[in-house]
Amino acid sequence: VLDVRGVVKTFGDQPVLRGIDLTVDKHEVVVLIGASGSGKSTLLKTINLLEQVDDGQIMLGDTDITDPSANTDKVRARIGVVFQHYNLFPHMNVLDNVTLAARKVFGTPRAQAEARGLELLARIGLGDKAKEFPDRLSGGQQQRVAIARAIATDPELLLLDEITSALDPQLVGEVLDMVGELKRAGSTIVMATHEMSFARRVADRVVYLKDGVIIESGTPEEIFERPQRAETREFLARLR
Ligand code: ATP
Ligand code: MG
Repeated sequence: VLDVRGVVKTFGDQPVLRGIDLTVDKHEVVVLIGASGSGKSTLLKTINLLEQVDDGQIMLGDTDITDPSANTDKVRARIGVVFQHYNLFPHMNVLDNVTLAARKVFGTPRAQAEARGLELLARIGLGDKAKEFPDRLSGGQQQRVAIARAIATDPELLLLDEITSALDPQLVGEVLDMVGELKRAGSTIVMATHEMSFARRVADRVVYLKDGVIIESGTPEEIFERPQRAETREFLARLR
């Protein structure tokens, strides 16, 4: 689904991504871990074309999305994204938030988009909140709606950046459970997280990033139980 090849990104004279190679297969859940500032968000942003790469190439399916002639809107329509905060449009009710992209980007008729939206909301236990505005929901509920919105158009790829880090601890579980359900349903996901226990549980592959370089990647067992590289061991030891 996704093939990141030799991606380099520099802000001013600070190299932030220094030659990233990453392939993500269909139905795979890849979790990016690494210290603050290691480049996780920047990598996700280059994939969603929120940042331009300085060098390298990113393929989404057969499309070279880093080609200057690539259509940014079309690329973004194939990718669902959820960030840490400010995901929902505050002036729109929950159902309108969830159905907006289907209606505006894909031209799905309102009735059809709303039927799908209500079904999604029911599935995540928020069917009764469809007409509520975001500020009347808990942070955890808002993030679940944001995820529902991101998947409402059946994107090929889902990018999740620290989606629980702004939440009160008791709300983290419900959001992470929803990611687990998406995985079971076959979504392809790249997510950055500081929740190591979750990374361990949900990831097919864990990628450890340090200073814009992939130091090591492997199954959760490989990374958390028997990391091969000293840098990975040091990073994990500091978390304990
Ligand atoms: P965190 O775990 O704190 O979210 P991260 O791994 O997501 O960290 P990034 O947000 O990708 O890290 O940032 C990597 C580096 O790039 C940081 O040093 C940051 O200051 C720098 N950076 C990010 N965005 C910009 C920008 N728009 N302009 C300049 N520097 C930036
Ligand atoms: Mg980040």
